[in-house]
Amino acid sequence: MRCVAMPPTGTERYAVVSCHVERPLDDRVWAAFAAFQERRSGGFAVAALMRPPDAAAGEQDEATWLERARAASVRAPFGHHTHFTSPTHARPTGGEPGELVAREGAWLRERGLAPTLFCGGGWYTDGSVAEVCASLGYVDVTPRATRPAYLPDDAAWAELDRPARIDLGAALLAAVPTTHGAGDLVRAVVLPGLPAQVHAYFHDTDLVDPRRRRLITLGLRLLARRRPVSDLDAVAATLGAAPVVSWAEIGRGGPVAVDSVENGSIPDGP
Ligand SMILES: [Zn+2]
Repeated sequence: MRCVAMPPTGTERYAVVSCHVERPLDDRVWAAFAAFQERRSGGFAVAALMRPPDAAAGEQDEATWLERARAASVRAPFGHHTHFTSPTHARPTGGEPGELVAREGAWLRERGLAPTLFCGGGWYTDGSVAEVCASLGYVDVTPRATRPAYLPDDAAWAELDRPARIDLGAALLAAVPTTHGAGDLVRAVVLPGLPAQVHAYFHDTDLVDPRRRRLITLGLRLLARRRPVSDLDAVAATLGAAPVVSWAEIGRGGPVAVDSVENGSIPDGP
């Protein structure tokens, strides 16, 4: 009897790429990112996960930020990246992380931007952040397929090795985990064991270093030969029937406490 394969669902095998846009108001960094996004190395539409300006940290040029965010959102999927403490300190050191995400999300929408994706700085997320992401209609790319090595044992993050819908009780949050940093990518694509679903990421600041930029370009070109090239919005559109997992199954560590010094000196990290 002839064996008939099931048709692919669209999320069985894919490669997608995102960039944490850390320094959108730095002309040199922005120019490097904008050029890279336009170039589409490997054929990838690189999602821009942009950090909103932090006026309290001196980032006052809202008009330039908005102009750049709009340009990025035309080129590829567009997302919201939160630094919970400061431009150079991604993870929270206290406060209410979920409230900050809600405030930034409202700020983006009031200005006509419609991010579809979210990534917590330094891979930080907790139940309150996840609930806010669901209420904003985001697809969360904060979960990691493997533990980021630099996080302390009790740090909060989420562990997920394939796309899923996270059951938060009152809502479902669709998630597409991030699987590979730029530094791991070339090695990962040439060795056996590359997962069927790859979501690679890098930072805009990587692109101003010619050696790192060449490495990222090479990684994306090799990746495009190994997995079907897609983008985060296209994968997100297929998640209506993705497996449901509970927050308890994927949440790691505990939420940040007031006056916490958790990861006090850790910026975005690899
Ligand atoms: Zn960041």
